[in-house]
Amino acid sequence: MSWCDDFRHIIRPDVPLAPLTWYRLGGAARWLCEPRTPAEAVALLAAIRAAGAPWRVLGRGANVLVADRGFDGAVIRLVGPEFERVTFDGPCVSAAAGADLSALIRDCIERGLVGLEALAGVPATVGGAVRMNAGGRHGEVSAFVTRVHVLNERGERETRSVEQAGFGYRRSRLEGCVVLAADLRLAEGNREEARRRHSAIWKEKAAAQPPLSVRSAGCVFKNPPGQRAGKLLDEAGVKGLRVGGAQVSERHANFIVVHEGARAQDVLDLAEMARQRVLMHAGVELELELDVWN
Ligand SMILES: Cc1cc2nc3c(=O)[nH]c(=O)nc-3n(C[C@H](O)[C@H](O)[C@H](O)COP(=O)(O)OP(=O)(O)OC[C@H]3O[C@@H](n4cnc5c(N)ncnc54)[C@H](O)[C@@H]3O)c2cc1C
Repeated sequence: MSWCDDFRHIIRPDVPLAPLTWYRLGGAARWLCEPRTPAEAVALLAAIRAAGAPWRVLGRGANVLVADRGFDGAVIRLVGPEFERVTFDGPCVSAAAGADLSALIRDCIERGLVGLEALAGVPATVGGAVRMNAGGRHGEVSAFVTRVHVLNERGERETRSVEQAGFGYRRSRLEGCVVLAADLRLAEGNREEARRRHSAIWKEKAAAQPPLSVRSAGCVFKNPPGQRAGKLLDEAGVKGLRVGGAQVSERHANFIVVHEGARAQDVLDLAEMARQRVLMHAGVELELELDVWN
């Protein structure tokens, strides 16, 4: 009797993860688990934890690099109507973790709810964006979050305040939790202005970053305090560097893009090479923003 026997309807063994990530690289998950409701997620996580199996949550896979040998554990994906539901109540929005962030931004703008357009061009689910405190120079998702509903480190349902969620630059204290949903508060404002800002941010990103059709995971490294990783990498001369099918973008030195035939290991080797160059050139240790699963 295995821990998955009770969950056969929502678990598939040996599922390739590459098609589920933006990089489209890496091997298979030992188990891919897709609970359909929060209650099912609670029971599933309890079984995984009781079996002592390693586990991860996968959103849009826009910040994840799966190792070539895959992930020998359970990967939980929150998909389906219950996990993609969004409800509006005046300026307050309740979004389930599997909801698509870009669709949510557009929906908010059309309702005259403004602020979230600061995250234009960030591919994410709501859960992934909250967990990572996604954002950039125009703002971060935590500026709009009022509460986060999670399965906590003990697998219990819990609602956390913004303070308890512990948001910082590309981090939160939600590591070890499954984000089930988030409550956001936006401002009631001018729809036309929000549309213009949304499109201006898109254009700004399109000019500075590789096109969205190119496989990447956004910025590979975090900005060190008071500095910009992209500038440090550029000054260290890494643009265009290549290992196998992975290449540092010519347009943005903090993006590693991949070509046909690339392996996850190419990305890791290239990232290490770039990190070493910055260390030699500027004496700064860059830290990965990319979440590597192995
Ligand atoms: C072209 C491109 C541009 C990007 N630009 C930006 C940018 O401007 N700013 C920015 O911040 N990021 C950017 N990123 C990175 C990425 O979009 C963000 O990190 C985003 O938040 C990832 O969301 P996701 O749903 O894809 O999460 P994933 O990549 O699937 O997961 C990211 C992390 O969150 C965890 N996670 C996911 N869902 C949950 C959940 N429900 N509960 C608990 N943990 C969870 C995962 O385990 C993993 O540790 C970019 C990526 C790409 C490909």
